[in-house]
Amino acid sequence: MIKKLFKKVFGKSAPARVAGAAHLIPYSEHKVSRDGISYGAKRVTDGLQAAGFQAFVVGGAVRDLLLDRQPKDFDVATDATPEEVRRVFRRARIIGRRFRLVHVMFGEETVEVSTFRRAIDAEDAETDEHGRILRDNEFGDQKQDAERRDFTANALFYDPTSQEIFDYHNGYADIRANTLRMIGDPEVRYREDPVRMLRAVRLSAKLGMKLDQATAAPIFKMKELLRNVPEARLFDEMLKLLLSGHAYECIKKLRAMHLHHGMLPMLDVILEQPMGEKFVMLALQNTDQRIAEDKATSPAFLFGALLWHEVLVAWKAKQEAGEKPIAAMHAAMDEVLDRQRAQLAIPRRYDTVMKELWLLQPRFEQRGGQRPMRLLALPRFRAAYDFLLLRCQSGEAATELGTWWEEFQHAGDERRAEMLLPDTGGPKKRRRRTKKPGGAAQAELPIG
Ligand code: ATP
Ligand code: MG
Repeated sequence: MIKKLFKKVFGKSAPARVAGAAHLIPYSEHKVSRDGISYGAKRVTDGLQAAGFQAFVVGGAVRDLLLDRQPKDFDVATDATPEEVRRVFRRARIIGRRFRLVHVMFGEETVEVSTFRRAIDAEDAETDEHGRILRDNEFGDQKQDAERRDFTANALFYDPTSQEIFDYHNGYADIRANTLRMIGDPEVRYREDPVRMLRAVRLSAKLGMKLDQATAAPIFKMKELLRNVPEARLFDEMLKLLLSGHAYECIKKLRAMHLHHGMLPMLDVILEQPMGEKFVMLALQNTDQRIAEDKATSPAFLFGALLWHEVLVAWKAKQEAGEKPIAAMHAAMDEVLDRQRAQLAIPRRYDTVMKELWLLQPRFEQRGGQRPMRLLALPRFRAAYDFLLLRCQSGEAATELGTWWEEFQHAGDERRAEMLLPDTGGPKKRRRRTKKPGGAAQAELPIG
């Protein structure tokens, strides 16, 4: 009878058990075993439960396990307050001021523990004039914590003890149907936090999930709201996207949805230059490839690549206006970085490496005398050479230049001597006498 009624109301068969409003999915159905949970996350849930609290693995980790992917990290949600959590563990500290979380450390692993929170109703919440919620750190219960999350697939709670999943929004079925669906009314949720639009694109590209129709539909008309998001937050989200291992897919999706305007305004300009587009896409594929191979990736390299064609255009313009190549390059770099900073907040800590990569590019042209050996000896040679290869592949630099350097760096002394081109180094001596404290990279810059 009850089963029948359930079927009538919900249009499907009744779950095995229902706790609160949660649909409880047993291990026999989802097959995510306790062994899939990291050591630290198990210690945290066990510790909190032994102290009488509720504790679950939550969010991206549960989703990834159900998709048969290795989670990046394990987050825990609990009904214990941050102070209560800290008291249970030996190595734990409370972080964040408005948003208080606890980091519990076990050797290399840090587990982030958050107390259940609830979304504050739009009327009561502190918002900006566009409806973006500025504060949502009220404590709540598990059900409310599920509701404030973004996608149904991200709102599942896994209990490592009972090996059950608590599902309030049909996230389990959505994952099985490979669908990313916003909890609640997508328009309202995007207004509260426009970054969710970028998350929708990033997560669907990264996880290969399709965006539910109603979740995708409002994005195009709401994309302008991204302009009100603080730059630092936008930057963090962009970095996540670019280093997701699926940057190429993400950017393609962003472009298809016309979201790249709000997110990376200069990407527009760059992608509209025929050479620039190819170069940027190659740089993204190269980064994805490195991540797939577990190689290090550097944000500075990536941003350097994204902005390179801007630098080239500015550099050329300045030289045409009569500036000397070195001075023109320095001015071009500063101009591009300033312009970019106003829109995107690329932190200054990446400037040094980006500039170094750019400044070294013209030096690859100098293949006579001692110069190639000096370039080879620089700590940044490898990264600059990888950058050069992308330029060659995109057609902006001669393929021959890349092959020359490939051979030169691995050749023996004799072959190297043969390879050197006639030294047309020109004003080398004069320059050395007038060398400024700026260092070798500046003094040797380019011949045009
Ligand atoms: P990733 O694999 O990239 O880490 P994730 O889903 O774990 O993906 P996090 O940024 O680590 O993303 O966020 C953890 C969880 O917090 C999410 O799964 C989601 O439940 C919730 N969350 C994150 N950002 C938002 C947001 N803007 N709005 C609502 N919920 C969010
Ligand atoms: Mg995560």
